[in-house]
Amino acid sequence: MSLGRIDFDTVIVRFGGEVGIKGEWTRRSYERLLVKNIKKTLEYHSLNYDKIIHTRGRIYIKTGEAIKICKKLSKVFGISSLSPAVETSSNLDDIVEKTVSFAANVLSSKKTFAVRCRRVGVHPYTSMDVCRRVGQKILESFPELGLKVDLEKPDISFQIEVRDDKAFVFSDVIRGVGGFPLGSQPKLVCLLSGGIDSPVACWLVMKRGAPIIPIYFDNSPFTDETTLKRAVKTAKVLFEWAIGFPKELLVVPHGQNLLEIKEKCPEKLTCILCKRMMYRIAEKIAKKTGAEGIVTGESIGEQASQTLQNLRVLDEAVKEYPVYRPLIGLDKLEIEHMAKKIGTFEFSIERAMSCRAVPRRPSTKAKLKVVLECEQNLDVDFMVNRSIENIRSISC
Ligand code: ATP
Ligand code: MG
Repeated sequence: MSLGRIDFDTVIVRFGGEVGIKGEWTRRSYERLLVKNIKKTLEYHSLNYDKIIHTRGRIYIKTGEAIKICKKLSKVFGISSLSPAVETSSNLDDIVEKTVSFAANVLSSKKTFAVRCRRVGVHPYTSMDVCRRVGQKILESFPELGLKVDLEKPDISFQIEVRDDKAFVFSDVIRGVGGFPLGSQPKLVCLLSGGIDSPVACWLVMKRGAPIIPIYFDNSPFTDETTLKRAVKTAKVLFEWAIGFPKELLVVPHGQNLLEIKEKCPEKLTCILCKRMMYRIAEKIAKKTGAEGIVTGESIGEQASQTLQNLRVLDEAVKEYPVYRPLIGLDKLEIEHMAKKIGTFEFSIERAMSCRAVPRRPSTKAKLKVVLECEQNLDVDFMVNRSIENIRSISC
């Protein structure tokens, strides 16, 4: 950013286009929720602000810490973009003066500029008048710089947003993450292994407004502490995107279940049977916590257990809650790219013990009938309840 020397006093917060096109009632409730999430984020990071002004289609934060605030709020779902700005009155002379002094701080290395204006309210001038007057005054004020106006591809664009009796001057637009405010949808339980995929799946549903309850299945002795640690680290990163919401990772003991599956069932079905157990346990947790569904990081064909035939057999394990798979159509490279942007990738690739219960030749075309027959050898309800009773929660 080029703006170190400007005394910003405002952050302009814009919401996504998708929020804007909601019906009046929904839009308002989303905006109110967004304001609440913004306040929690600012408090969490000890960022000072004087007040938050919520008007139709915009939020203005009055603050002396505009740049820091923009950085932190770029991780708040529901915000499409942010700008550090300076406020003035909507009087045209004030706008001209303020923009010229803004320009004085940033123009030295620029050769071309543009002035743009958006206006809401009734004013004795048009947006075009603003652009013309401000542009003219900038050219007159800095003759030594040899500036030129370029409306197509300017080095810098001075933007003026006039709202009723106020106006805001800014030049930078910082991209927000988009999506819907967290909490605008009900909670979802998420199967979080800590690998590359499942954190991305969690993040995608958060982006659409659903807070997550991450569940890690502890397969020790087939895995060890390194696998758990990796899951905790990825959960911590995910919760940076969910400030103000509970930050608990549920750890479900699953090793004993896996041991029994290995003892009593055909080896090639181990992963299918293991996952079906996970789904059942997740379903119970969903019921208990008031969540609306189960999220996993599966995508078509990514592992033997994720062929379409196997996914269908997995789905059959749960009846009351849907299983959501946000990554279903994504390639590994696309998932990795997202994991890097989210911040989980570097932890997901840390050395961790991979599950030693995985068979050498896992079934890629499991038959439901056969799987159900195998499960006759297991006391499924007992296993599910035993795991549920021994869940622990790790605060992230
Ligand atoms: P990931 O990269 O997310 O670890 P994966 O590619 O290794 O997944 P699988 O092991 O087949 O694939 O797991 C599929 C999905 O099942 C995961 O994305 C995750 O949602 C869930 N899952 C697998 N193992 C665990 C676990 N130990 N704890 C919680 N969820 C798990
Ligand atoms: Mg995977």
